[in-house]
Amino acid sequence: MDDVTRLLQSTLTEAKQGTPIHAGPVFASPFHAIGDPSGAEYTYARAHNPTWTELEGALSGLEGGGQVEVHSFVFPSGMAAIAAIFGSVLRPGDVAVLPSNAYYAARQLMKHYFTEMGIVLRMAPTANNAQGALLEGATLLWLETPSNPTMEICDIAALCEQAHKAGTLVAVDNSTQTPLSQKPLLMGADFSVASDAKSMSGHSDILYGHVAVRDAALAEKIQMWRRLMGGILGPMEAWLALRSLATLPLRLERSSANAMKIAEFLQTRKDVTDVLYPGLESHPDHALAARQQKYFGAVLSFTLRDAKTANKFLAAAKLITEATSFGSVVTTGERRARWGGDVVAPGFVRLSAGCEMVEDLISDIAQALDTLKR
Ligand SMILES: *Cc1c(COP(=O)(O)O)cnc(C)c1O
Repeated sequence: MDDVTRLLQSTLTEAKQGTPIHAGPVFASPFHAIGDPSGAEYTYARAHNPTWTELEGALSGLEGGGQVEVHSFVFPSGMAAIAAIFGSVLRPGDVAVLPSNAYYAARQLMKHYFTEMGIVLRMAPTANNAQGALLEGATLLWLETPSNPTMEICDIAALCEQAHKAGTLVAVDNSTQTPLSQKPLLMGADFSVASDAKSMSGHSDILYGHVAVRDAALAEKIQMWRRLMGGILGPMEAWLALRSLATLPLRLERSSANAMKIAEFLQTRKDVTDVLYPGLESHPDHALAARQQKYFGAVLSFTLRDAKTANKFLAAAKLITEATSFGSVVTTGERRARWGGDVVAPGFVRLSAGCEMVEDLISDIAQALDTLKR
């Protein structure tokens, strides 16, 4: 069965006369627990909730592609999910290998907490599988591909093979791709982790994240971390997440197709440089992306002359909502260097294509670029 069909089927409840066909949110702190609680499916909501069970079932189906058993755990944000892996795997003296261009907050978390507690941090860029040279004696290899916002790609399967030979666990931050498009666990990764506030939820209204694993012992570690640290996803958000997940295939297909056409258009403009999108044949790792991803994704980036020009462009583009983050149903964009943290030019713009009609997006981008000449 195709992923898309399985995903939609996984959002249905068991067919029982007169009951809703999709599950609603279950609001509870304690559950009825009478006498010996050992057989009770649910006892206290910091440990489990039926709405998580529904969402995690759908996530596991996507992550494993119906081919392997997967355990998924939802968290209240992508960072909470990332922290669960760092915290349950790394101990003082261990070596962690991160991309030097990894998501900024992940690098900050490692630097401000974990290295201070004795974790040794090694970093190399995503491009050219450069992290592979730093694996000796490492406990954890962290990958993020395509990297954000500069769209560098690494070979997940090749790096997993190399890491496992060195006795190193591998985690892939899959936020930009989603497990519909790229399946780290089927390429050998031990952990697939994501911020699902992006394409996975897609409506810019919730934060959540998840960790998925195949190994039962690693699953137990992640579950224990969540139960004991106590940062959990509310049932309302879990329900919204499940509802949004059903349209992921439609949204990702449309936004990826739109991103491709926008990238091709931007390449024709003399006032735009460095159009970065894995779907373009000019991208250095286009072939690898085509092999490893089902979609090239919603996110692309390009560079305008300077900060002032980029700001003027964003102000003139009526269909680009200026906001950070990506993966929304509407097109969003921002001048990345306004935050610091990423090594990008002052005029570097990250764009996340939405699901609008692409002709409208392209004519809007064209008119906004034309205002820069004046
Ligand atoms: C957004 C993002 C995160 C952090 O997720 P939050 O849900 O904001 O905590 C981590 N990694 C990547 C690649 C992201 O884009």
